[in-house]
This record gives sequence, C-alpha cells and structure tokens, in this order.
Amino acid sequence: MLGGLKMEKSRELYERAKKIIPGGVNSPVRAFQPYPFFVSKGQGSKLIDIDGNEYIDYVMGYGALLYGHSPKFIIERVKNILDNGTLYGAPTEIEILLAEKIRSLYPSIEMVRLANSGTEATMHAIRLARGYTNRRKIMKFAGCFHGSHDTVLVKAGSGALTFGIPSSLGVLEDTAKHTLVSKFNDIELTEKLAREYANDLAAIILEPVMANTGLILPDIEFLKTLRELTDDIGALLIFDEIVTGFRLAPGGAQEYFKIQADLTTLGKILGGGFPISAFGGKSEIMKNLAPEGKVYQAGTYSGNTISTTAALASIEYIINNKQIYQQLRQTTQKIVNPLTEFIQEKQLPLTINTLESMFQIFFTHKPVKTYDDALTSDITLFTKYHRKLLQSGIFVPPSQFETCFTSTAHTIEDVEKTARTIIKALEEIFTK
Ligand code: PMP
Repeated sequence: MLGGLKMEKSRELYERAKKIIPGGVNSPVRAFQPYPFFVSKGQGSKLIDIDGNEYIDYVMGYGALLYGHSPKFIIERVKNILDNGTLYGAPTEIEILLAEKIRSLYPSIEMVRLANSGTEATMHAIRLARGYTNRRKIMKFAGCFHGSHDTVLVKAGSGALTFGIPSSLGVLEDTAKHTLVSKFNDIELTEKLAREYANDLAAIILEPVMANTGLILPDIEFLKTLRELTDDIGALLIFDEIVTGFRLAPGGAQEYFKIQADLTTLGKILGGGFPISAFGGKSEIMKNLAPEGKVYQAGTYSGNTISTTAALASIEYIINNKQIYQQLRQTTQKIVNPLTEFIQEKQLPLTINTLESMFQIFFTHKPVKTYDDALTSDITLFTKYHRKLLQSGIFVPPSQFETCFTSTAHTIEDVEKTARTIIKALEEIFTK
C-alpha cells in the first residue's frame, strides 16, 4: 500500500526489475521512492497501472504525447503498413513526404535528416556544427538537457540534475573542456564567454524554453542576442526543439518567438509516441553530411517505416488541425488559473511557470527565471506533493526539475479534477 493506493504488484515488479535492470528502470527519471507504478495500459489522458489504479497523466511520455495515449489517427496508420515490412535498408517515399512536411512548418529547415531519438539528433547536429565551422567548442546553458551524450552531459538538467549528477562520471575531461557553460537569460555572461572563445566556438545550443529544470521561460532579448551574437562571431545557433517543437506552435519556438535557428533538432511530438527524431537547417550546412559531405552520420533504423509513418500522421494532423493550440492553452489555463489564485490568496511560497501546454509549480517563493532560482526549491516538499497527487490519481513528473504537459486528450473534467486535487494537496502540505 502507498497511502490509500494498492500497489502490491508494482512493488513486486520493482523488486524483480531491480535485480536485472539498473535501478529497476530503463531511464533514470522513471524511478521514484518508494517505487514507481508499473503500467499496464495508456489510454487518452490516462495511465492504468498493473494494480488497476488509474492516473490522469501529465508526464505524457515526457512531452512526446501531444494527442494523449494511442491516438487512433496514428495507430491505424501504423497498423495498416505493418504487413509490408518495417525496415528496408533502402529509401522510401514516405521519408521525403515527412521531410517536406517538416520543412513546410519550419522555414529555417531547408534540408533535414531523420534519426531515432533526441539524443541522436543533438549529437549529430553538434558534430555537423563542428565539421561545418571547423571549430571545437560548443556553448550550452546550465540546466538545459540535450540528451545523454558526452558533449552535453555537462551541467545538464532533467534526471542528471534530479539525481545530483549534472556532469556525469565517464565523460572525459578532454571532452568536457570543449563545452562552455553559460547561464540561461544572462546576456552579459553569454556575450563575454562567446567573445572570449569566438575563434573556436562552433555553436551555441539551447532549449529555447527550458523544460528540464522545471519550466523556465526565455527573455525575448536573450534569444535575440543569441541570434545576433552567433551571426557576429560565425558560430551556429542550434535550437533544441525536442520539447518545444510542434508544442508551442506548429513551427515550434521559432514560430512562437519569431527567431530562426541555423540548425534545429526535433523529436518527441514528431513521432506521436514512436521513436523518431530529426535535425535540419540551411542546405549549405546540411550538405556537409555524408554521403554528400565529410561529416559522418548514420542509423540502421533511421527512416524506418513504422516511425516515419507515425510521424507523418502526427505532422499531418497538426497541419490540418491548428485549432488544437488554442484548445491546449485553454486546457492548461483551467489548471493554472485556479492554482495561481489559490496561491496568491493564501500567500503560499510557491511559483507557477506556464507557457501554452506546459506548466510547473516550484516550491519556492522566488520567481523562477533562472537555473539558480529553480535550485532554491524545496525538494522535500515537492516529493510530498508528488506522492499526494499520485494517491489521488494524478501523475505529474516525480521531479521538481521536469515539466507537466497537457494533451488534446485531457478533458474539462480531467483538468477541473486536477486543479481541485492539487489545491487540496497544497492545503494539506502547508497546513499540516
Ligand atoms: N533535448 C531535450 C530538450 C529533451 O528534453 C530531451 C529528452 N527529454 C532530449 C533532448 C533527449 O531526447 P531523447 O530522450 O529522445 O534521447
């Protein structure tokens, strides 16, 4: 039992999993105390665990599931192609169709390559930036997460931050020394660092909205400065839109903030729950990839028919249903507005950040505009909050340093219940 929840089967599976899978999970963010629930099924806005408990889901595959679990328009398309083989080791027309659709939404993407995960996309984009500029250094921002590869596992957010290892063992100093770390929203420091290493700086990579240290919004001046600065010193600007792509707007943060990147990485929503990612940008840069150019990048599963078909269905849906963005915003506000009122009325030491279909409550009285602000949060209180929500059938990410995502599958009843449940949980935390 966990509070009132019957979780015996999950507990047993966790014990079994820990013996064979490190930490019992295949990605660290999924682990939490005393044990995570094990899922039997996802349906629309809900997850159902193997003990039969139902949760309204705000993890949503860590932002991948803009349409909720198992959207029919994707699943049916995938089912229809399964009998024709799934992997050819040869090109298909659907890869071109998908590339054309991506380009139609992201004007900065003149050419695009498909890969299989966000980690791959940022890794390839960074290698390409280094190859194209013939420079070695990359700048990132503390708390931004770009996947788990060596160049970017330096002061990283998400699970790396949650588990206290923002800079991982196993990443060679010789590698890490080429990763400059600046502070998000700090124009002065970023300019100073970039100019100091101007001759050797290949690219600045960032999440245009930080979604892996909770949710932190960019100052528009900061984004504009990055655009001008990189142009000025001849470095590339890489927008990691693995989270923001197709979420803030069909054309992601670049459409939303009206700033174009040189290279863009996409993933998550692109595949609607299937593993696929993409990186793209100006033809002049992309043409440096093998076999046309001398930057090597490859993948057995890249462009496989399952993921590519799912992605095509996902992107076509967005193109044909742009009204979903208004719906998503309203859905989110139905949670965030009552919470904001409640927090103000009771003068609680909490801060809510929100943008479109994302939100997070920070357990700090400070406005959270930077990584350092986010770190002032009371993690013990957050853990209590997470546990209480779970016991009431609401699943938010188990870490203060993640973001809640709404989807088109969340109903009015879902979000009204969520707002009521969160308010009750906060009342209990701060009065008992
Ligand atoms: N970039 C960002 C902004 C992410 O949030 C993530 C994963 N949460 C990644 C890259 C890595 O993606 P993946 O887990 O698919 O490798």
